Amino acid sequence: MNKPQKRKILVAGNWKMNGNLALIDSMSQTFATQDFKHVDVVVCPPAVYLSSFNEPDFAIGAQNVSHLDGGAYTGEVSISMLSELPVKYVIVGHSERREYFNESNELIAEKVYKILECGLTPIFCIGESEQIRESGKLFGFLAEQLDAVINRIGIQAFNQLIVAYEPIWAIGTGKTATPEQAQEVHHFIREHLAGHDANTASGVRILYGGSVNAASASALFSQPDVDGGLVGGASLKPTEFVNICLAAE
Ligand code: PGA
Repeated sequence: MNKPQKRKILVAGNWKMNGNLALIDSMSQTFATQDFKHVDVVVCPPAVYLSSFNEPDFAIGAQNVSHLDGGAYTGEVSISMLSELPVKYVIVGHSERREYFNESNELIAEKVYKILECGLTPIFCIGESEQIRESGKLFGFLAEQLDAVINRIGIQAFNQLIVAYEPIWAIGTGKTATPEQAQEVHHFIREHLAGHDANTASGVRILYGGSVNAASASALFSQPDVDGGLVGGASLKPTEFVNICLAAE
């Protein structure tokens, strides 16, 4: 796919709290017969499976990390622990964590900071509800989500992270944003970042997420500012996930 060379397409599968050892086996077998040259593939299984893959054909990402360094915090996993595993990416700021686990923009910025400090790559999610979109506050809302990271770390953070635009109304609903809707927002994100640093903005990869499937992937990924996808439900089906990655080739 024709993208600026510094923005190789990336497709990440977010398993959420799904999957098991059998799915790891079938995903690995399905990918073993593929050889992707123009797309970076990432699989983000639940934390207990982060070491269970034996698969050189895709990178592994975690779905969450604590903002704390360590200590008496039952149930938490720190970034230094993740960095001892074959983990390269960490999803952060997903709307499900914002909503169900009360993660604020500030907490998410702190997590982004920790992930970068440890040399891993955040997949930093932003996105609006249907209500925000309909109230005409879309761009201001997204700018606030971006600015939390800029204010905490600086624009240079965006040289090392990946942005994922995931409209909440499109997640798990089958209601994919149209390629034009995705492009409009991705363009806004890049322009907003360009207001701080044009070079950073032109290099940052911006993924689209929200009901991406094998049928919708190609039209989405061919938009000028869409550099791949963050895929939920369809990433649990090995053949479909491979086909989404093939759409990016
Ligand atoms: P979906 O999820 O593809 O099932 O809509 C995307 C996500 O939440 O990352």
